[in-house]
Amino acid sequence: MRNNILAGNWKMNCDLPMTQELIFNIKKQLPEQLDCEIMVAPSHPFLYAAFNDSLESPIEVIAQNASQHDSGAFTGEVSIDMLQSVGIKTVILGHSERRDVFLETDDILAAKTHKAIEKGMRVIFCCGEHLEQRKSGEHFKTVTEQIDKALFKLTAKDWKQIVIAYEPVWAIGTGETASPEQAQEMHHHLRKFVEDKYGEKTADKLSILYGGSVKPANAQEIFAQPDVDGGLVGGASLDADSFVAIAKSF
Ligand code: PGA
Repeated sequence: MRNNILAGNWKMNCDLPMTQELIFNIKKQLPEQLDCEIMVAPSHPFLYAAFNDSLESPIEVIAQNASQHDSGAFTGEVSIDMLQSVGIKTVILGHSERRDVFLETDDILAAKTHKAIEKGMRVIFCCGEHLEQRKSGEHFKTVTEQIDKALFKLTAKDWKQIVIAYEPVWAIGTGETASPEQAQEMHHHLRKFVEDKYGEKTADKLSILYGGSVKPANAQEIFAQPDVDGGLVGGASLDADSFVAIAKSF
C-alpha cells in the first residue's frame, strides 16, 4: 500500500568524479528486482551530470535543499525551477544540518515546502529530536511540532507529494542508531498525528523513512517495523556496496 524508499544523502562529500563513480557503481550492482524506490542526493553542481548518468536506471537523482524564492536577488540560492530544469523531481527539506547549522526555522521550512509542493515537487521532509529532548521525554512533542508548523497548512491532496524522514539528531553520523522499537514507536506516533488531521487514507499512504546511522547490519531489522517504510542514509550511502546491501534489506 505504501512505497518503500531508500534515499542516499551524500551531503557535501562528493566532487564530480566521485559523484559519477558512485552512480556508476550503484547502477552496476543494483539487482533487477527491488522492493524499494532508490534515490541519491548529490551536491547541486553535479545534479545535471548525475541525472544524465542515472537515465535508464532505477536511480532517481534528488536535491539536498532548495530555496523558497522563485528567482532574483538571492545570492547563492538554487530555486525549485532551476532544479526542475535539470530533471529533478524530489527535494530533501528540513534536514537537521539545515536547521542547526544554517538556522532554518519552521517558518522557513514551511515556506520552502509550500513552494516545492506548489511547483509539483516531491518533498522528503526531515524531522527529529536532539538528545536532550529525548532524555527529558520531549521527543514526541518536538517532532510533532516540527511537522505541525511546517506541513499542517497543506491540503490532503498535497500530502501525496510528501515523504517524512524521522532522523533523531543523536543518531546522525554518530554510529548510534535508534532501536527498531524506538523507530517504530515514533513512526507510529507520526502516522497517527497525520491521521488525526488528514484522515486514515492520507496517513496510510504516507511513506515514513528512518534516518540515523543506518547500515547493512541494522537495515533489515529497522525496515521490518510496520511503520518504517525505508531509510534516509548518510555515511553508508557513500559506499556503493553498503548502499546496495541496504537496498536489498527490504
Ligand atoms: P547518517 O546520516 O546515515 O550518516 O547517520 C543520515 C542523514 O543525515 O540523513
